[in-house]
Amino acid sequence: MNTLPMVQVSDVHKHYGDFHVLNGINLALNAGEVMCVVGPSGSGKSTMLRFINHLEKIDAGTIHVDGELVGYRERNGNLHEMKDKDVCRQRADVGMVFQKFNLFAHMTALENIMEAPMQVRGRKRADVRSEALELLERVGLGNKAGNYPGQLSGGQQQRVAIARALAMRPKVMLFDEPTSALDPELVGEVLDVMRELAASGMTMAVITHEMAFAKEVGNSLVFMDGGAVIESGNPRDVLNNPQHPRTQAFLSKVL
Ligand code: ADP
Ligand code: MG
Repeated sequence: MNTLPMVQVSDVHKHYGDFHVLNGINLALNAGEVMCVVGPSGSGKSTMLRFINHLEKIDAGTIHVDGELVGYRERNGNLHEMKDKDVCRQRADVGMVFQKFNLFAHMTALENIMEAPMQVRGRKRADVRSEALELLERVGLGNKAGNYPGQLSGGQQQRVAIARALAMRPKVMLFDEPTSALDPELVGEVLDVMRELAASGMTMAVITHEMAFAKEVGNSLVFMDGGAVIESGNPRDVLNNPQHPRTQAFLSKVL
């Protein structure tokens, strides 16, 4: 049995100029579990997720995904930056879904999903196509394969974005406020897809303000403020009975 967490963040620091955006973050996300991350705007939540997918570089500390150091090779006790091809390989194992879907506007839903498995994984078109169609079915969009993003609602676009990330067969999925840009009546359909994904055993980190989802689906909840983890634990415990005054103040505003 693999006892290492799927994602391990250890004493991570980040500065933007003089601004200490992350101040010694420690997190562990176990395989098959869902971690929800909540906290005020500007607390460093997105920055923290972006490291895991090589969208930002950390100043100090380490991140491991599936036991492998992210972004660096250890040699003779020193850390050396990874070659681009290793960065690509690691990034391909981590799916990411953003607030603003970021679909390719000039490609159909099906083409959006097929692009990376063919270009990055170098898989055969026919295989990728049939898997992409299955993924569209799975997110409830089996009849929208030929639609362009502009012909889809926000909720449908986000479900395509989730299918697109899944097409890479990632080890872990990162969601950065996946429902924050949606009209309220479209939030549920995206959360339903995420709930199903969690039930299928996917390892997920989810930045969200959807506290009911965090309670129901999350195995752990992390509250961040000012670039630090202030409190973490079972989502029900943290949300029903927050221990830290900053968590209490935040939750009193959003719940
Ligand atoms: P959150 O997702 O919790 O709202 P972010 O991780 O996006 O927070 O940002 C944390 C802080 O870092 C914010 O104050 C933001 O303005 C700042 N920040 C984020 N990215 C950059 C950047 N590339 N350069 C300078 N400051 C940044
Ligand atoms: Mg953010």
